[in-house]
Amino acid sequence: MSNRVRSAIRALASDSLQAAPTALWRRLAPKSCVSVCYHLVAQARPSHLKHYAVLDPVAFEADLDYLDRHNGFIDYAALVERRSITSPPRDNRVLLTFDDGFSECATIIAPILKRRAVSGVFFLITDLIDNQALFRENKAALCIDRVLTTPMDVVAAITAELGLTTVRAQASSQPLFGHISKSALELAALEASDPRRWPLLDWLLTEASNRTEALDALCERLGVQPDAYLAAAKPYLTREQILELHANGFTIGAHSCTHRQLSDLSPEEAEREIVESCRAVQAITGQEKVPFAFPYFGGWLDRRWLAALRDRYPVIGLFFDTDGLREDEPFIVQRVFGERFTRDSTLELILRRAWGRPAAWKRRVS
Ligand SMILES: [Zn+2]
Repeated sequence: MSNRVRSAIRALASDSLQAAPTALWRRLAPKSCVSVCYHLVAQARPSHLKHYAVLDPVAFEADLDYLDRHNGFIDYAALVERRSITSPPRDNRVLLTFDDGFSECATIIAPILKRRAVSGVFFLITDLIDNQALFRENKAALCIDRVLTTPMDVVAAITAELGLTTVRAQASSQPLFGHISKSALELAALEASDPRRWPLLDWLLTEASNRTEALDALCERLGVQPDAYLAAAKPYLTREQILELHANGFTIGAHSCTHRQLSDLSPEEAEREIVESCRAVQAITGQEKVPFAFPYFGGWLDRRWLAALRDRYPVIGLFFDTDGLREDEPFIVQRVFGERFTRDSTLELILRRAWGRPAAWKRRVS
């Protein structure tokens, strides 16, 4: 067989596997846990999250109906139990998780889950608890709104000062804030704007959250007042809300202190982000173990280093990451994003694509 034919067959097989329904995948490559990661469920996008693919409560409940029908749910304790045995049941049960600690976890998500008697893990950025600071990405989101209405000459001056001359392909699925893509709605808004605004918008969507000083200076220049916004909107969970979530049977996890990409930090700093945020959650809830979700992506972190860290600090529970349905070390749980960050508009399509990746087929335990 010629190489061309062989690669054509391979492409065809890959395409048809991508199209295989999850009913088939659940039997072909069953999982001891399918973990799904959401951030926010809200009726409308708040200004600080204008650029996230926010699910409304109706869409979220439809996801829960789907998962209830096809998978069923487990809680964190059951997952810990499964990770401690050699042949856990491979029944594709789902563990729901929610990252970043937005207040809607307590006001919208938890009441829905409680009504359905479904548990979940809420991963908090511990420096934001009690609305002590506005998260960099949320500051950038507020600036984007302002840039769209700021006079062009001011935008041009700022763009020149920041040395921004190019904009990467503006319409594709470029990563937003490191891990998610722009929504169609947001792209439409950006593309409708004067193209001369694009370099600054692009910078805000991709680079700004790593340029703290420049972002703060830009807030001032644009008249964005992070402290006033924080006080008025109170976007993050409070200590009281966290205690109530815990009292209602939910697991509280840590998502670092400052939400920086851990592989960009020194090992000492990364260790501090993990250990101190787990301790901060433990100090509030009294949990013996606190699961930890890597900000953005933890795939570049040395697994032996992570294992040693768990040995040294018993407060650290299981680690959670965002590499789909790939099976990792037993102490690392990979997750699929539940939000519509790509063209896949339903959870069935999202899970189909996640299961269609060859990485999802290999078993780490029997
Ligand atoms: Zn996050």
